[in-house]
Amino acid sequence: METYNNFEKELKRLPIEEREKLIEEKKAKCICPTCPSYNKCAIVEREKLFCMIGRSFLCISFEEGCKCDECPIKKEYKLKYNYFCTRSDEKGQRYLNSVWGSTLV
Ligand code: SF4
Ligand code: SF4
Repeated sequence: METYNNFEKELKRLPIEEREKLIEEKKAKCICPTCPSYNKCAIVEREKLFCMIGRSFLCISFEEGCKCDECPIKKEYKLKYNYFCTRSDEKGQRYLNSVWGSTLV
């Protein structure tokens, strides 16, 4: 079983407080703020960890590069995709790929 799937299961199993704590821990490792696509709005709204919690809700609409390949979270969970802020989280991109057989590029 892939580690990303295990993480998802663990997250669902946890009580809300522990879930939020775990997400904050993972957010601390997210390197999105070093990325050219990351903007001032995302800083103010504290948007991060798009790979796990979904695309940018308010702030990021344009792709100007992606640092996910250098991120420890991507390595830790063996994530396959990138540009999570604009294209959906890992789960969403895996689903789209399974339906359409390609990424949104
Ligand atoms: S893989 Fe990308 S979105 Fe996920 S934590 Fe790392 S930098 Fe952030
Ligand atoms: S998900 Fe990728 S493109 Fe989006 S801000 Fe994070 S590193 Fe940049």
